[in-house]
Amino acid sequence: MQPRDLSAHTPYQAGRGIEEVARELGMAPENLVKLSSNENAWGPSPEAVVALRETAAQVHSYPKTAHADLVDALAETWDVAAEQVWLANGGDGALDYLARAMLDPGDEVLVSDPGFAYYAMSARYHHGRVNEYPIRKADDFEQTAAGVMNHYDGERIVYVTSPHNPAGTEMPRSEVDALADATDEETLVLVDEAYGEFSETPSAVQLVRERDDVAVLRTFSKAYGLAGCRLGYAITPSEWADAYARVNTPFAASELACRAGLAALGDQDHVQNTVEGVRASREYLYEHLDCPTWESQGNFVLCEVGDGTQVFEAAKREGVIVRDTSSFGLPECIRITCGTPEMTERAVEVVNDAL
Ligand SMILES: *Cc1c(COP(=O)(O)O)cnc(C)c1O
Repeated sequence: MQPRDLSAHTPYQAGRGIEEVARELGMAPENLVKLSSNENAWGPSPEAVVALRETAAQVHSYPKTAHADLVDALAETWDVAAEQVWLANGGDGALDYLARAMLDPGDEVLVSDPGFAYYAMSARYHHGRVNEYPIRKADDFEQTAAGVMNHYDGERIVYVTSPHNPAGTEMPRSEVDALADATDEETLVLVDEAYGEFSETPSAVQLVRERDDVAVLRTFSKAYGLAGCRLGYAITPSEWADAYARVNTPFAASELACRAGLAALGDQDHVQNTVEGVRASREYLYEHLDCPTWESQGNFVLCEVGDGTQVFEAAKREGVIVRDTSSFGLPECIRITCGTPEMTERAVEVVNDAL
């Protein structure tokens, strides 16, 4: 027998894992510089590591209290009600919950091109149809409400990525507000702030507090350094009442993830150090790479290198893994994640040589 027809679904192309590449190159993983998946180069908070160790002996229990404690902590952080915080297995899991809650079969969504692949994948899993709006390199990937509205046709969800992956540009909060005003009453504007901590632009969560048609996605995978734990959440309109309880997979985030998340949330020094390190790395990349770059509000920089795949391969042979952005529809670019000074300098050296 076979599963249903999955030909319309495409596998997610993640940046390659460090062990995978090390094996292929015959190198030790610790000699590789991995700057391909926008992970936290400074690692997780040491307090999260302690929490994970301490939680290990309790993983025979379902995560009830930890889940509730983390939701409460996030609700307090964002000044929203606990019901508005939709905890999930990564930000990607929260995207699934939003699609489950929003889409009837055949409903349409609007995603950016280039953009984050999982929006469309998630919508399709939920029997939605996907339309695109362009974010143009010719306009330096500028994001405006008008730019989206030119392609809007009553879709149920409009996905906005701010800061944008892989371009690094933002949609200012006033533009998100204008976009939510311009779209239909039954359209949700979903602002993905996976990289929000690296930006100085105020979060769109303020709009979730003021309106009933904006939601925000956040994750512990980037600035909080917990990508391996899989922990993220959406902040949704207060009017949605018990929708989360109706759509979530029971115990959406694991005991380990919740305890690590609580500890990481309490260690803002680690986040601050990460953000400062990222800013320094971004500046170094702009200044020292021998190719055009775009100013980024995320923990990565998009670089125009000519033949992205070729530069990616050349860098890989030297043990530096960057992201080939062909799968984003930008074959002439690569994306380099911000790292420690040593990692960043090594990446610049290798990429400049490849150029
Ligand atoms: C990394 C990322 C996410 C969330 O990733 P998770 O690891 O599932 O939390 C969401 N959106 C964008 C644009 C990202 O780059």
